Amino acid sequence: MFAAAAAATSTPNSLLLHRPSPAAAKVAMDSSLRLPGRAAGISCAAVATPERGVYNFAAGPATLPLSVLQKAQEELVDYRGSGMSIMEMSHRGKEFDAAIKKAEADLRTLLAVPDTHEILFLQGGATTQFSAVPLNLCASPSDPVDFVVSGSWSDKAFKEAKKFSAASVAWSGKDGKYTSLPPFDAIKQNPEAKFLHICSNETIHGVEFKDYPEPKNKSGILVADMSSNFCSKPVDVSRFGIIYAGAQKNVGPSGVTIAIVRKDLIGNAQPITPVMLDYKTHADNASLYNTPPCFAIYICGLVFEDLLAQGGLAEVEKKNAHKAGILYDAIDGSDGYYICPVEKSVRSLMNVPFTLAKGGDFEKQFIAEAAKEGMVQLKGHRSVGGVRASIYNAMPLAGVEKLVAFMKDFQARNP
Ligand code: PMP
Repeated sequence: MFAAAAAATSTPNSLLLHRPSPAAAKVAMDSSLRLPGRAAGISCAAVATPERGVYNFAAGPATLPLSVLQKAQEELVDYRGSGMSIMEMSHRGKEFDAAIKKAEADLRTLLAVPDTHEILFLQGGATTQFSAVPLNLCASPSDPVDFVVSGSWSDKAFKEAKKFSAASVAWSGKDGKYTSLPPFDAIKQNPEAKFLHICSNETIHGVEFKDYPEPKNKSGILVADMSSNFCSKPVDVSRFGIIYAGAQKNVGPSGVTIAIVRKDLIGNAQPITPVMLDYKTHADNASLYNTPPCFAIYICGLVFEDLLAQGGLAEVEKKNAHKAGILYDAIDGSDGYYICPVEKSVRSLMNVPFTLAKGGDFEKQFIAEAAKEGMVQLKGHRSVGGVRASIYNAMPLAGVEKLVAFMKDFQARNP
């Protein structure tokens, strides 16, 4: 019975670089059996047995493809015959040089990044980009810039930008509790603004841009924080002056932040810009000005290989749309038992927030029971509460199917 269950559920959403060994599969099975309080009577237990014992719905750091972790494990102690871990070797040596160049080239292929744009591997998280962007794009703190504030992350970006620019809110979703996006002509753009900033996917509120506004500023620059939907679908990079993203949702571990910057925007930073925040520093040094987060960049490289092996981002987007579709259908088909407050046209394929009409105590019970069933980290962000299922690229379809089965089961047991 267990062998059949394992076979039925060992098809992850990504192509395996290496299929799990029988020993690894046994460990996964054993660990799923070890889950405390696993309720054999609950119907969703039959739906899917996660390979690692749990399905991890965390918003970030988030689940990574099992195949990538296994490859990293295989290479951890002796990186490709060097006798060293990639964590232990010079960032200027031939092994790491090849790894970072391959990662950059694969990302360029994945997102079809044009030659007009530089790819930079940076540190400090996406949060550091909240200041780096105005420092690099504004000549002085009195330069106007426009922000679409569609949730907590763009609000944070706006507040930080105010220190280094004359930032204004061109549209805010605050009154609607960040459940919608504006029609693009409702964004009050200042023609003098140095850039228009958006957050393409609000991780906490689950609001995602399906298309992007045209910047109406004279410089024609659109900047996007893509932290939580980076590499989840194809993007026309040429429309953006800057795209930035912390890696720890879709493409790797925390510690590295990727910025894709139009080359002509590099080299004009405000004089007070710290050397580490000036894009020119990193562009001139191929992201090796100082010691980079080597291990994180290496893992991103493995993830990029995996995404290419899946057929690229158009294929990845199809899988993401399918996963999100069955989850939203379950919410909308629950006769109001589960509620997603986000306007349908802008619902995120990555972060699905929902509440239970029965209230907070039932939400707690839902989250606790789901954890016993091997579906973990489903608690909504502390600022909004409720439930949030983050279903990034590496979340297998089986994980979402199991969650949907659990939701139906929970509703039936707690009408
Ligand atoms: N922007 C978005 C959309 C995010 O989701 C996050 C992190 N959750 C951040 C920015 C901040 O990223 P970091 O923790 O890498 O600074």
